Amino acid sequence: MLLILLGAPGSGKGTIASELHKTYGLVHISTGDIFRANMKEGTALGLQAKTYIDKGDLVPDSITIGMLEDRISQPDCAKGFMLDGFPRTIPQAEALEGMLQTRSQKIDAVVRIDISDEEIRSRVSGRRVCSSCGESYNVDFRPPKTEGVCDVCGGPVIHRDDDKPETVMARLKTYHEKTQPLIDFYEKKGLILPADNEESSKIALSQIHAAFADKGLIS
Ligand code: ADP
Ligand code: ZN
Repeated sequence: MLLILLGAPGSGKGTIASELHKTYGLVHISTGDIFRANMKEGTALGLQAKTYIDKGDLVPDSITIGMLEDRISQPDCAKGFMLDGFPRTIPQAEALEGMLQTRSQKIDAVVRIDISDEEIRSRVSGRRVCSSCGESYNVDFRPPKTEGVCDVCGGPVIHRDDDKPETVMARLKTYHEKTQPLIDFYEKKGLILPADNEESSKIALSQIHAAFADKGLIS
């Protein structure tokens, strides 16, 4: 299966991706996680990306598209994958179309995660993330079993620098300007599956499982 998760920053894409990975074994590709891993290791790519990420801006397409193409060229992606945080612009979506065509692959569904900006602002202030494996947590409603320690890999659970309130506002603005047009782009292709994540990820996930069954993507 080849899946795209589309949603605002802090909409819960990472949490939903992690659940879909557990349920269906889908390879989870998060461009945000790849950037953060590069920033942690201090690579040239990481240093370039950091200047944009810290301001709540998008990393330029010229950097992001090549990085994503490298990742989906790995052998573990041959049978499909799930994209979390890519595409985020129309040029990225168009570049992806080209890459998939070359590989004789096609998108099965685009999960649209629905949530209000107000709910996002309140959730992101409590959001924490594992700096080793990227698993997400929330101090209020999804804390790790041991404070500061990842349940999945034992790595350190931290508060991301770009989850500061001012940066979150900038990221939401960027989302509405640059990423929201993708909803229309994929709607026209009949690929959108809505998932309501305003109340809880349980509701969103049950809608996703039902839509997969309905579309014959799972048996
Ligand atoms: P969130 O979905 O919560 O915003 P991510 O971890 O997906 O968080 O992304 C963090 C940051 O990484 C983004 O704010 C952006 O600066 C950068 N980034 C991630 N994916 C992309 C992308 N596809 N294009 C450009 N920038 C990206
Ligand atoms: Zn972890």
